[in-house]
Amino acid sequence: MAPDLSQLCLHTITTRPWSLEIAIEQISRAGIGGITVWRQALSGRDPAGAGERIRAAGLQVVSLCRGGFFTGLSAAGRQRAINDNLAAIDEAAALGAPLLVLVCGATPGQPLEISRQQIYDGIAAILPHAQACGVRLGIEPLHPMYADTRSAINTLAQATDMAERLGSAQVGVVVDVYHLWWDPHLMFEIERCGRLGRLFAFHICDWQTPTTDLLNDRGLMGEGCIPLAAIRQAVEAAGFDGFHEVEIFSSVYWQMDQTRFLQRIITAYQAYCAPP
Ligand code: ZN
Repeated sequence: MAPDLSQLCLHTITTRPWSLEIAIEQISRAGIGGITVWRQALSGRDPAGAGERIRAAGLQVVSLCRGGFFTGLSAAGRQRAINDNLAAIDEAAALGAPLLVLVCGATPGQPLEISRQQIYDGIAAILPHAQACGVRLGIEPLHPMYADTRSAINTLAQATDMAERLGSAQVGVVVDVYHLWWDPHLMFEIERCGRLGRLFAFHICDWQTPTTDLLNDRGLMGEGCIPLAAIRQAVEAAGFDGFHEVEIFSSVYWQMDQTRFLQRIITAYQAYCAPP
């Protein structure tokens, strides 16, 4: 029997060497249900046309990655970020992506509290446009090792609290196991996030030991120390029934033949889905 890959989604960054067109063809041929498109994969392309191509291949557009990076020392810089996020919302709408993932930003030398306020203000500024376009916004908390330059939102509690404070059903949270697995409050916070209707997306991969690169050394599910089965169970118990999105940045896997890598992903996903 062919494996059920209908809830599996691949990020275009995972098979970065592939063009968007090749990724669509290969992912579709493998029987995978969804694709999350990174903005750089859209470079030089018409997002509406890309969306049509994805749907014609039988795939669902799960989200667009990524907006965010709202923080900055100058008001002009922060306004540029807001403008770029408004453009990203337009791209998501044209692509037919229901969700824009936000990596919220952090600025070295600026207190995290100030960055968090700028993130709140940035999301509040783009929210009306997101609502008008029917695009949801997903705050993705990042591992604290990225608190210097990438995100001042580092725990699921912070992300859920910010979504709640923004007070719109259009804003929720992206749970990525790589960023959150270490958190002693994770299971409680997954339950709370789901109960509040804020759990919008679920990203999977694994944490390698030792990690040789802080950005580009993510592992396949099962290769590292993340308690994937327990987190998956908690997410599903919290009411999440969306896609399981494989998001792997890896200088090692990007060097591999990507067709073979895709097979490795499918095998790892099947093991991840197998009952304990
Ligand atoms: Zn992620």
